[in-house]
Amino acid sequence: MKAAVIQEFNEPLAITEMPEPTVPSGGVVIEVAACGVCRSDWHGWRGTNPLVNPPHIPGHELAGVVVEVGNDCKRVRIGDRVTAPVIFGCGVCEACRIGESTICDHQYVIGFSGWGAFAERVAVPYADANLVAIPEGMSNEVAAALGCRTTTAFRAIVDRAQLRPGETLAVHGCGGVGLSAVAIGAALGATVIAVDIKDEKLQLAKSIGASHVINAAEVDDVAEAIRGLTSGGAHVALEALGFTETFHNSLRCLRKMGRHVQIGQPLGSHANPEIPLLETIYYRQLTMMGSRGLPSTRFPALFEMINSGRLDIESIITNRIDLETASSVFYKMNDHEDVGISLINKIKS
Ligand SMILES: [Zn+2]
Ligand SMILES: [Zn+2]
Repeated sequence: MKAAVIQEFNEPLAITEMPEPTVPSGGVVIEVAACGVCRSDWHGWRGTNPLVNPPHIPGHELAGVVVEVGNDCKRVRIGDRVTAPVIFGCGVCEACRIGESTICDHQYVIGFSGWGAFAERVAVPYADANLVAIPEGMSNEVAAALGCRTTTAFRAIVDRAQLRPGETLAVHGCGGVGLSAVAIGAALGATVIAVDIKDEKLQLAKSIGASHVINAAEVDDVAEAIRGLTSGGAHVALEALGFTETFHNSLRCLRKMGRHVQIGQPLGSHANPEIPLLETIYYRQLTMMGSRGLPSTRFPALFEMINSGRLDIESIITNRIDLETASSVFYKMNDHEDVGISLINKIKS
């Protein structure tokens, strides 16, 4: 089958023939119709994710049709049109049984634990517990674009921070996940402040619901600017880049008893930032949370937000490309020049 392969870090993906995937006993093979190009794929391509070793097929934001089913698969059938959470739980452990598959000890992350969906076909395990039927009327493109970015933002805001109408939400970093967070925050009736260093991304943030935008390169102190806009600070702040500086801005922009959610993946030198414990967690009584992925059981709530017209994913998809063009998105990501969500919707030549 045809695939886009990381042969060497930081080099263009090789478009090449790869062996057909083998169906796991509890899994399926999916014929890929669309796949998002995400910053986590970029991390793998840069060589900063220890799970990614060449040759490797990236891609974890997929939509497609089931074409082969393992012997132990009972629910999912050939012909099902499906999408999937980025983190697959095993379906049987205690975390999975209470609906928290993103903390499953046996989790499988598509495109990292194994080969991903920048390919004609991809194999995934634990299919019954994780695959999500795409609702009738929803395109493969929108389903793929929910991928890890919108689902991650949804869980961070709705399930973890429990953002309420009328509260203020500060979003630090307007890549795909940050923009999704802006749109979801606005859909919930919050006042959203979007922060980035690229005016193009801030314009897009504004068009999808941000009430205020701040170009971090143009102000002395982002946190102070947010506190000024919100008479005392935001109720909820998301760090959506994985950088130490934006993490500190996120903590410092909060009002007392505010909630910080870490959704950017802090890799390399950003993995262990210093935390000003006394001033933030202690005196200001802040809450710090992490959020990764979204269990498949929560997809219906996200679908409902889209079907009701409150959340428009199409407006965040800015770039529809073929498999051959996927590398160019990674090169744009090197300089944060990618705006909105890039989506591969042509796999075959
Ligand atoms: Zn599990
Ligand atoms: Zn991702």
